[in-house]
Amino acid sequence: MPQRLARAFCAIAAITTLAGTLTARSAWSAELDPQPLKPRLNRLVDQMYPGLQGIYEDLHAHPELGFQETRTAAKLAAEMRKLGFEVTEGLGKTGLVAIYRNGSGPAVMVRTELDALPMEEKTGLPYASKAHAQYNGKDSFVAHSCGHDIHMASWLGTAQALLGLKDQWKGTLMFVAQPSEETVTGAQAMLDDGLLRRFGKPAYAFALHTSSMPYGSVGYLAGPTTSNSDSLDIRFHGRGGHGSAPDKTIDPVLMASKFVVDVQSVVSREKDPMAFGVVTVGAINTGSAGNIIPDQARVLGTIRSYSGSVRSKLHDGIERTAKAQAAMAAAPAPDIQLTKGADAVVNDAALVARTVKVFEAALGKDKVLPIPPITASEDFSAFINQGIPSMFFVVGVHDPKKVAEASQPGAKPLPFNHSPFFAPVPEPTIKTGVQAMTLAVMNVMQ
Ligand SMILES: [Zn+2]
Ligand SMILES: [Zn+2]
Repeated sequence: MPQRLARAFCAIAAITTLAGTLTARSAWSAELDPQPLKPRLNRLVDQMYPGLQGIYEDLHAHPELGFQETRTAAKLAAEMRKLGFEVTEGLGKTGLVAIYRNGSGPAVMVRTELDALPMEEKTGLPYASKAHAQYNGKDSFVAHSCGHDIHMASWLGTAQALLGLKDQWKGTLMFVAQPSEETVTGAQAMLDDGLLRRFGKPAYAFALHTSSMPYGSVGYLAGPTTSNSDSLDIRFHGRGGHGSAPDKTIDPVLMASKFVVDVQSVVSREKDPMAFGVVTVGAINTGSAGNIIPDQARVLGTIRSYSGSVRSKLHDGIERTAKAQAAMAAAPAPDIQLTKGADAVVNDAALVARTVKVFEAALGKDKVLPIPPITASEDFSAFINQGIPSMFFVVGVHDPKKVAEASQPGAKPLPFNHSPFFAPVPEPTIKTGVQAMTLAVMNVMQ
């Protein structure tokens, strides 16, 4: 059963994370004081920025879908080789790992994603994407509307900055560019291909993501930061017939419709009202004409949660509700598939506390903001579940004035990730990404 497997998986992850945290933490010594470094880091970032902006615009104009990111990966590989990293390509199909050794010290992973989304960009920017690709057998537009191009530019900039400051830290950099984050399968593909077996298990891992905050600021959270994401696929079996003679049929449209309504009582009546949980039915596929009762109906949806207990409660409730509809209609049992997707990203509290202190000292307390948990999902959790204490933080992308205007009552919200109008302001965003990530890494390599 998928939900039982999920429970067992979470329990193992919790134990290994704790063990990993204890081992790694004993290696920490002094915290980084960013003040004396700031002028050097800022100078480096200013010098490298024109190059990064060029790479960003190029990646933005040439997006690729998950597991098809060959051009993107080749470009990152070439840049990392230029810096002196040992690069291995084709890990997890199109992923890459770049290693740089600088004396004895912890290994630290910095993750970026490579993939874009199957959607049309409508920003009108001079470097907007016009790319197309095959998606599920159909031609589709492709666009970097989740900001993974910002993440790649920040990742390259961080590598450059860390090399420019290599007299200030010791250890091994493990820069990982994963394929297909949007399908939450790319991280696992790299793990299955031997990422940790072949290159070692890092002591810490970091990743950043764009968010709708003002540029120049970063957001953080300890504990669950993104959601568990699972899918539901239920097929109700009825008996087809004439729409005028429902007594001769078993109506799967009615079963599916009642399921859609009743399953919301699992959310409102069964789980803790203070705990986050969502069940959304996004598609009902059935029927061909108004006067025909079809013989089956398929319901597709998504299930989100932060905790393992809510996750299994929702799975149990969905299964019971689906079976009950069939029982009430005297129909055969439905086919129920509840498939586990990404686990929640759970940030290591001690690592977050340590990193936030450095962010506040370097960027200013007003630029380092606690954020609420994010309802979207991320497969960065696949790395964390290997027992790597980690931190996933967000970087603002919008003009602060526009963010303030958009927060007025009745104002239109700014386009956020996955919107066709999503348009991060590159310069402050990438610079902040590089500064924050560089300091986060150096702070655990003292
Ligand atoms: Zn996305
Ligand atoms: Zn994303």
